[in-house]
Amino acid sequence: MTTVALKDVTKVFPDGTVAVDNINLDVNDGEFMVLLGPSGCGKSTVLRMVAGLEDPTRGAIMLDGELANDLPPRDRRIAMVFQDFALYPHMSVGDNIGFPLRLAGVEPEPRGERVADVASALGIGDVLARKPSQLSGGQRQRVAMGRAIVRRPGLFLMDEPLSNLDSGLRAELRAEISGLVRELGVSTIYVTHDQAEALTMADRVAIMRKGVLQDVGTPTQVYGRPATLYVAAFLGSPRMNLLEASVYVHLDRYVTLNLGDQALYLPWNDIRSRAVAHYHGERIVVGMRAEALTPVAPDTPGDVLQGRIRYLEHHGHESLAFLDIGATAIVVDELNKPVDDDASGGSSRLRRFGHAVQRLTGRVAES
Ligand code: ATP
Repeated sequence: MTTVALKDVTKVFPDGTVAVDNINLDVNDGEFMVLLGPSGCGKSTVLRMVAGLEDPTRGAIMLDGELANDLPPRDRRIAMVFQDFALYPHMSVGDNIGFPLRLAGVEPEPRGERVADVASALGIGDVLARKPSQLSGGQRQRVAMGRAIVRRPGLFLMDEPLSNLDSGLRAELRAEISGLVRELGVSTIYVTHDQAEALTMADRVAIMRKGVLQDVGTPTQVYGRPATLYVAAFLGSPRMNLLEASVYVHLDRYVTLNLGDQALYLPWNDIRSRAVAHYHGERIVVGMRAEALTPVAPDTPGDVLQGRIRYLEHHGHESLAFLDIGATAIVVDELNKPVDDDASGGSSRLRRFGHAVQRLTGRVAES
């Protein structure tokens, strides 16, 4: 399948807008790469340049190791799936799926067979005679996918293909699309601003902001070890706790992180000490995920923070505790399980938890 390499790619539109700023990105054979970022960060422009619908201002678009900047779109073995599906309303489902084959001059008989195969693989074999207006949103989406895969492309480009669907269907099709694409082994670039989509579907995620690539990695890497503060704050719900701290390395081999009126003592052999030791004497930002903070008994020694609970938020399968530690507010996944509201009401619980001590088990993000 097609490999993609973007080398120092920049796109400046005629009005001076720098939509893509010096991006380097590889998509490997059969890889599902998700481009993630807020609206206007340049994701679609990257996709359109790979498709050949937009020329890069500078840099190289490589397809299968060859410079493709001047390759016409039709010669790129690429299939695109768009947000609005772009189905032809006057054509039947079968004709919509078979359209790229008709354009390529494939005879009606083999065309019909291929359409039937694709439609049955997508579970829409029984609606081939219908018009798009007679389909549900999910079925229309499958027709669009069918039309994309019918010519066995080497690369799928998908621009927010699920954004017009309701959330239940979106979650269902998310698994369906990534399953199907993996089954076909087709390299894919998938654009979305939805981080749940990105983290669940991607082999690797590329996170963009204002035209600049911030981080690239597996969902676990970008979530657990974000490359920049922007990515740390952007990914995850609740947001990662980001706390300012001063770092001191003590000669008897431990590290303190001073967070306002509290300090964390990290033993030297702790991986987090190594991560921050070279910032000795400096102020840094420490990142701690809510789920990495565990409530412990008040007399627990070591790397603990003390916080006063401001309020609890119940989410069914978990509860979040919002705490003040000194002047800073943080959020903690409270025991990673729901908290029962006891008979005496929320305030007693708040009082009781007001004295809880929190153990820091989170990673330390870069400053
Ligand atoms: P969205 O999720 O809203 O589609 P995006 O991340 O895909 O956003 P792009 O569509 O790539 O972002 O746009 C990136 C930037 O380039 C935006 O500031 C946009 O306004 C600008 N832009 C896009 N197309 C043009 C154009 N033809 N002329 C000028 N500016 C453009």
